[in-house]
Amino acid sequence: MPSAARTTIDAVEVSGKTVLVRVDFNVPMSEGEITDDSRIRAAVPTIQSILDRGGSCVLMSHLGRPSGNGFEAAFTLAPAAARLAEILGRQVDLPSGDCVDEVSIAAVGSIDPGGVILLENLRFHGAEKKGDADFAARLASYGELYCQDAFGAAHRADASMVAVPEAMAGRPRTAGRLLEAELKYLSGAIDSPERPFVAVLGGAKISDKLATIRHLAGRVDTLVVGGAMAFTLLRAMGHGTGRSLVEESMIDEARAIIEAVEATSTTLLLPADFVCAGSPAAGVETSISGRNIEPGLMGLDIGPASISAFVAAIREARTVVWNGPMGLFEISPFDAGTLAVAKAMIDATTAGATSVIGGGDTAAAVNGLGLASGFTHVSTGGGASLRMLEGGPMPGVEALDRA
Ligand code: ADP
Ligand code: MG
Repeated sequence: MPSAARTTIDAVEVSGKTVLVRVDFNVPMSEGEITDDSRIRAAVPTIQSILDRGGSCVLMSHLGRPSGNGFEAAFTLAPAAARLAEILGRQVDLPSGDCVDEVSIAAVGSIDPGGVILLENLRFHGAEKKGDADFAARLASYGELYCQDAFGAAHRADASMVAVPEAMAGRPRTAGRLLEAELKYLSGAIDSPERPFVAVLGGAKISDKLATIRHLAGRVDTLVVGGAMAFTLLRAMGHGTGRSLVEESMIDEARAIIEAVEATSTTLLLPADFVCAGSPAAGVETSISGRNIEPGLMGLDIGPASISAFVAAIREARTVVWNGPMGLFEISPFDAGTLAVAKAMIDATTAGATSVIGGGDTAAAVNGLGLASGFTHVSTGGGASLRMLEGGPMPGVEALDRA
């Protein structure tokens, strides 16, 4: 990823200036409460750096998927503003229900040094997702500088990510601290890894991860695959998978990807056994099965022999990247494989390895287990981190690299 042209927020003078900062406050919510504030906390170093140096911040973000036809209470950023105010220990204003109306314009116009304004959800305007230039120009008028710190949206070409920095040509356009850290770990790990380099993939669907497997094949020394996506691969190899989650339409594709990996220097490590049950529920009777699962059963986690083999591979790694849970980790006891992988990665990290976690559900799993601090880097981006692991385009980063 070219970065020669990229300027970081810490390299520019912000004193007395208003910085328009694209943050990613697209946090998980339940009944109006934030259930995981990691993304808000991750934006604080950039915000604090601007405030400490005498600048003011106009923050913008999207949240969820509103219809794009105006304010919807279910998608307000008000809880995020309140949470940020708590973390910063200072006032955070959310001027109105519309990020570009007269009230917002007036609030930004009268912001004091050290002031923090969070604009309301960008996606209340359909123009945000369309990358609309007129909408972008209105947002661009808010800042003397632009700062891109929304790694979680950097794989999108939304107005605030691409058209806004374009509209601010001639003004400094910078990368925030979170964005720089994410790029450092996610591209650094893949482009110049210390070896052995192990990637662990899991999660529900092989179709989500095909591009990742293709990109990692030949780059990693060992590719460990668990989670439900392993069943489609095992079916392609002729195994019986019972009632486990299989993407029937992807079986041919799975066969091709196994051959593609085997044609490279990468060793593919698949589960040897599974924890099975008749249904995916807490408290059900479980049994251990080899690679051929009985017709009535579902594989819901990797089994003990798989855990041993996966843990051994991870412990030897000097670089390990993980995306996707090993099983139905939301329900105990099907979280054991995911927990074992997390612990092995933490052990490797303690022994000096670089460990990187990408993927929304995987990050949520380790955050939920209280283990996040044990890894070198836990990405705040779900789709964005996967895009990096695929080596795919990152429009929000490329917009800065063109600046
Ligand atoms: P990420 O968001 O980290 O990329 P995914 O979205 O691909 O991860 O997959 C996460 C989901 O996969 C979780 O909800 C988990 O319960 C599910 N999953 C993993 N293994 C299994 C399995 N064996 N059976 C059913 N669901 C599974
Ligand atoms: Mg997911």
